[in-house]
Amino acid sequence: MILRVTLLAPETTFTEPASSALLLLGQGRDLASERGVECAGGLPAASDPDLVERARAARAALGDRAFVLGHHYQRDEVIDFADVTGDSFKLAREAAARPDAEFILFCGVHFMAESADILTSDAQQVVLPDMAAGCSMADMAAIDQVEDAWDVLVEAGVAEDTVPVTYMNSTAAIKAFTGRHGGTVCTSSNAHVALRWAFDQVGGVDGTGKVLFMPDQHLGRNTAVLQLGIPLDRCVVFDPRKPNGGLTTQELRDARMILWRGHCSVHGRFSAQNLVDVRAAVPDVTVLVHPECRHEVVTGADMVGSTEYIIKALDAAPAGSAWAIGTELNLVRRLAAAHPDKRISYLDSTVCFCSTMNRIDLPHLVWAMESLRDGRVVNRIVVDADDAHWARVALDQMLALPGY
Ligand code: SF4
Repeated sequence: MILRVTLLAPETTFTEPASSALLLLGQGRDLASERGVECAGGLPAASDPDLVERARAARAALGDRAFVLGHHYQRDEVIDFADVTGDSFKLAREAAARPDAEFILFCGVHFMAESADILTSDAQQVVLPDMAAGCSMADMAAIDQVEDAWDVLVEAGVAEDTVPVTYMNSTAAIKAFTGRHGGTVCTSSNAHVALRWAFDQVGGVDGTGKVLFMPDQHLGRNTAVLQLGIPLDRCVVFDPRKPNGGLTTQELRDARMILWRGHCSVHGRFSAQNLVDVRAAVPDVTVLVHPECRHEVVTGADMVGSTEYIIKALDAAPAGSAWAIGTELNLVRRLAAAHPDKRISYLDSTVCFCSTMNRIDLPHLVWAMESLRDGRVVNRIVVDADDAHWARVALDQMLALPGY
């Protein structure tokens, strides 16, 4: 699927239907999807000198009726108002653990808010302050593409020996597909456990069964090769834009890992050259990267792990140690500020925030909180009942994996 960035003139009110158009903040709307960015009642100006005070007042007025979740990659101005911070799955579980909160304000991206809606009660309403806060990785696997891909596997005679595993960073529809086909969801922390479980359903890691891993090819490849010992040449990439995924029937039959052609726009930027550069510039540096990075980056790094792993590794690091971190910049900056006794730098020489995550800013948070305070529920995320049921099946399967 091709991402289209649609730049709209201020007076424009409609853009042509597109399943994944990225829209400028507060401008235009996509009538064909729920990613419109209309802000009924008006979005405060970012320059409003009373913005912080307005946020405090709205948050205080909502009290225990609201619970504000802040993903690790959010801006500082948003994190300041978060009741809890964490990665996507931790936040969804935190939301589920607050049944008395009428409103869950999810300062993250769309798929995370969907997961929170699935895991919370029907009485709770999940709100995403800006509907344009999507995830480019999640958007790389559309449900119709995945259904078509499964048909290709059926045609090739391999579907019966294939278990789908989807990363948490996927839409509710993809999680539901996974649940319907006997698979599981995974996070970057437990991907190796999920993969081992999936292979066990089709004859074990040393057998001939396969895993269809969506949507992040890098997490799938890194985990399968480095943690399960699957040979690199038994990992194939299924490109949904090519006939039969760009693969022959024999390639599909020989594969152990069928990797969806998706990636994270942030972690996919890091390169092997970044490692060469930072090692030359910083003596004794330890390079720590997220498993969404490319295979050559992960294999060239000193340590690899999820966001929570990165946080814990730096907490445990000795004073004076030097680190180059390959993950989202907001988090790296906060970690550097939290550990002034350590030399923490960003792995890439050019900065890269998660642009969709950063669509949630203080004006949108203020707008959402003031709207709720005034009795107007805005930007509610609701997953349809059938998808919610099957996505829950896949999420429950993950919760049943060892370690949860
Ligand atoms: S950092 Fe990557 S995976 Fe995470 S929300 Fe942004 S684009 Fe998606």
